[in-house]
Amino acid sequence: MYKLGLIGYPIQHSLSPWIHERLLQKAELQGEYRLFEITPEDDFKEKVLELKEKQLDGFNVTVPYKEKIIPYLNDMDDIAKEMQAVNTVVNEKGRWVGYNTDGIGYVRSLENAYPDLFEHLNRKIMILGAGGAARGIYYALTKFGFAQIDIANRTQEKAEDIAKLGKDNTKTKIFTIEEASRHLDEYDLIIQTTSIGMKSVDLKPIVQLNRLNPETIMSDIVYQPLKTQILQDAERLGARILLGHTMLLYQAQYAFEIWTGMCPDVQEMEYELLAVLEGR
Ligand code: NAP
Repeated sequence: MYKLGLIGYPIQHSLSPWIHERLLQKAELQGEYRLFEITPEDDFKEKVLELKEKQLDGFNVTVPYKEKIIPYLNDMDDIAKEMQAVNTVVNEKGRWVGYNTDGIGYVRSLENAYPDLFEHLNRKIMILGAGGAARGIYYALTKFGFAQIDIANRTQEKAEDIAKLGKDNTKTKIFTIEEASRHLDEYDLIIQTTSIGMKSVDLKPIVQLNRLNPETIMSDIVYQPLKTQILQDAERLGARILLGHTMLLYQAQYAFEIWTGMCPDVQEMEYELLAVLEGR
């Protein structure tokens, strides 16, 4: 009987219980996935100690606690250390070990949809945005060996900071958002990771697409709306696209694998999750 869960705030509308309960079913494992909301008014330390007493097998961590959880962990894997952000914790005989599944989850979703992209590591990649998600994605792509990953962000220093993760193996140019629009035609893959495009933020695409090459894959990690404006426009211009909810599924798959050692196929869940999201 696996005891799993999620901490964060607010989390009442999280899709994680749906995803992990489906994964448990697929893996034919008994278990539950519960929400443990910790509000900003709560005493975080007290809540974490209460959680420790529950002896969960593992739990996810979402905003705003991905950094705040770190002092309570006994160990972290190399990726989480490099990110200094944890979204998955596994209980190893009472020791809490932290992981960050975002980057690997994204790369798995990309590889599943577009395996041809991985045949040559000299593909040119542009990441739009330099927040927490961009950091994880950049790092995972550099680990995979992609040689050129450029970053465009409103705040240049954040992009420069991410580029340091590439060390000597990956070349990275830093652009403003306006410059990115002018260079779009040079890229095999463009990954939109800013919050622009979200229902609650701003629906208008962050870059202008008039220079988009139809051979390019346009990926957006925002999934509310399901097909963001930038994906609709890119598709209309003939480009291939990758929807953001796939990253959500594959990062959950990797977390589930860390907890249980099992890696259920999530491809058919993509359509089920689409239906869940469309019903919202
Ligand atoms: P974050 O750390 O807060 O970063 C936000 C990014 O958006 C930064 O690059 C920020 O630029 C940029 N941005 C925000 N408002 C902007 C504006 N008005 N103009 C230009 N740039 C703006 O957030 P995050 O955790 O990386 O998440 C980013 C998005 O990805 C969110 O929508 C989140 O829901 C989504 N996400 C999806 C998944 C998934 O599984 N599909 C996973 C993680 C995140 P500055 O650096 O200049 O502030």
